[in-house]
Amino acid sequence: MGLRADAAASAGELAELRHAIHREPEIGLDLPLTQAKVLAALDGLPLEISTGRKLSSVTAVLRGDAAGPRPDGARPVVLLRGDMDALPVTEATGLPYSSRFEGVMHACGHDQHTAMLAGAARLLSARRAELPGDVIFMFQPGEEGYRGADLMIGEGVLDAAGPRPVAAYALHVSSTQLACGVFATRPGPMLAAADIIRVTVRGRGGHASQPHLSADPITAACSMVTALQTMVTRRFDVFDPVVVTISSFHAGTIDNVIPDEATFLGTARSYSSGARDRLRDTVLRLINDLADAHGVAADAQYVDEYPVTVNDPAEAEFAHAVAADVFGAARSVPKTHPMTGAEDFSYVLQQVPGAFISVGAVPPDQDPATAPSNHSAAALFDDAALADGSALYAELALRRLGAV
Ligand SMILES: [Zn+2]
Ligand SMILES: [Zn+2]
Repeated sequence: MGLRADAAASAGELAELRHAIHREPEIGLDLPLTQAKVLAALDGLPLEISTGRKLSSVTAVLRGDAAGPRPDGARPVVLLRGDMDALPVTEATGLPYSSRFEGVMHACGHDQHTAMLAGAARLLSARRAELPGDVIFMFQPGEEGYRGADLMIGEGVLDAAGPRPVAAYALHVSSTQLACGVFATRPGPMLAAADIIRVTVRGRGGHASQPHLSADPITAACSMVTALQTMVTRRFDVFDPVVVTISSFHAGTIDNVIPDEATFLGTARSYSSGARDRLRDTVLRLINDLADAHGVAADAQYVDEYPVTVNDPAEAEFAHAVAADVFGAARSVPKTHPMTGAEDFSYVLQQVPGAFISVGAVPPDQDPATAPSNHSAAALFDDAALADGSALYAELALRRLGAV
């Protein structure tokens, strides 16, 4: 039987595993219930399994049995990533396997990635004899803001099989936009870098009727907020765009008092490391210089969060071609623009060439254009995506290792 048919035959099992994970979602780096389900699903497979120290990750290595394709005898390694964590959202899907934990939900579909990756481990274990290299299965906690991938790299996931992987792939389901079972990727930037701008402007408060005797932090902070928007259009290339949104602004208490302080907070997104570096420098300089001009002090912080997720052009093309070959050209589409979200798979792609691939999981009775998005309390991810997601993970590893 072909790999896709094998995956389809295990669709029921994959859905069962996914539902069990969905019912008991966990947030952050410590996911003991999820980790136990993954370990149970991998039980009996010929894998070298290790678990994380600072986080409840699972790293599994499958050693292929076929002779290696490389003349130097070095065995290639491919890494497959599936994230496992949930979000602080109260589920409103009405699904029979809805979260049983109040305020926690698998609203980003990571329950699907976990099941798909466990399925891929099973598919590839059954083909161990054909595998001329090794596969690292990276089951990762803490994608949603906890740098789980970075921590797993720190604990050695990239070296788990010995040599560094020649390629790394991650699938991510989408509850909107992409029809169920359609795969989409692109060369170059795939997701944004998402950083935080945090500013406290310190002036000198006083009577609101005598602003010349005070140093007004509000007018200074307002000029910074508008100058940041002008900076976006005057200092950055529209074809290497950045987004700055100040989403929180607080100052003062009453109409007749100038306060001592104003604070604001926002997000800064960029799509190349060059733009990100310039954004960091330009934001800090602009705020500090404007503070000077207004006679106030500014404590400006630019907090680096996840970097840009950059697909290697050759690996993105390879993943696109494999999906088209396995599922038909209509189900492998180029993604025209990067996504505005951010991903910590970016840390893996900083060290290993690879690709992040979106997978449509919109239920067939919903319109992809209007279906609730990932992170929504009403987001639905169809089980129909599971078997093919699993098959694609496995095909990517098999073909990249040279087995097909
Ligand atoms: Zn998410
Ligand atoms: Zn996600």
